[in-house]
Amino acid sequence: MKDYYIYYNNNFVRQSNATLPVLSASTQFGLNVFEGIRIYKEDAYYVFRLEDHLKRLNNSLNQIGFKTKIISSKNFVEILKELMILNDIKTDFSIRFTYLVKEVESWSSNSNPVFFIAPLIRERNSSDYFKTIVLTKIRRISSLAMDMKVKCGANYINGRYALLEAKSKGADLPILKNKDGFISESTGACIFLVKNGVVVTPSLDSDILESITRDTVIKILIENDYKIEERHVLEEDLNESDEIFLCGTSAEITPIKLLGIKDFKIGDLTKFISKEYKYATTAKKYKNYSWTTKFKI
Ligand code: PMP
Repeated sequence: MKDYYIYYNNNFVRQSNATLPVLSASTQFGLNVFEGIRIYKEDAYYVFRLEDHLKRLNNSLNQIGFKTKIISSKNFVEILKELMILNDIKTDFSIRFTYLVKEVESWSSNSNPVFFIAPLIRERNSSDYFKTIVLTKIRRISSLAMDMKVKCGANYINGRYALLEAKSKGADLPILKNKDGFISESTGACIFLVKNGVVVTPSLDSDILESITRDTVIKILIENDYKIEERHVLEEDLNESDEIFLCGTSAEITPIKLLGIKDFKIGDLTKFISKEYKYATTAKKYKNYSWTTKFKI
């Protein structure tokens, strides 16, 4: 992997020089909060839903008890531009924006976190890309125990257990039920299904991350007069669905095949939403939502 420049602790440094004590609170206990954000290239560069990512990161910082003020979107774009120049980035890419604790401390650390912004080269998913899913025995962590609206590194180990189970069953990805037995989400993406002509997605009280892409998809569907239900979703709904897709910043719109289903075809609604999502990410449509931050270098 290329040794990219990243922005760490107020400096531009090579990733290999951005160090952390092995006994820091973040390395020992997964004490960090983060966002993944995509930048798409067209006639200019477009950061997708930057303000919403910063808002969620700020909320994660507050919820986990970090007393620091997040950088502004203007500041963020300036750092981004410098990173693109230093790393000679001229394509679509994404970044990981993480606050962590450098101090050698326990999970109860009160230290001020530092942050890094690191580029990851990721192009759009190709149109024939799909994943196979399976329901796992592992349940989603309850928001009564760990707030699932907080993007904290430690929360992701729940997804790791589920992924191990899914892989052992021959699927690419898991779908987890929540403590009440309702369908929750996958490891890094939310789920939508189409059943009897209605688009269905687990409601926000299903122990899911409040996904920005989920919100984008819902708004696109409403704009296009689709019927959408945000509700508790049952295993039967999944098995009886005509189409399933996952969505997320990284997953974008990922068509889904249930493990064991043979003659799989990517459905019409999934194709439609993939197309519209692509337009939304570069402000070709849905301009009234102001979802993109455009810049040139
Ligand atoms: N759920 C989880 C657990 C995630 O990590 C992600 C990725 N951030 C998502 C859903 C999708 O969220 P978003 O659309 O905001 O990227």
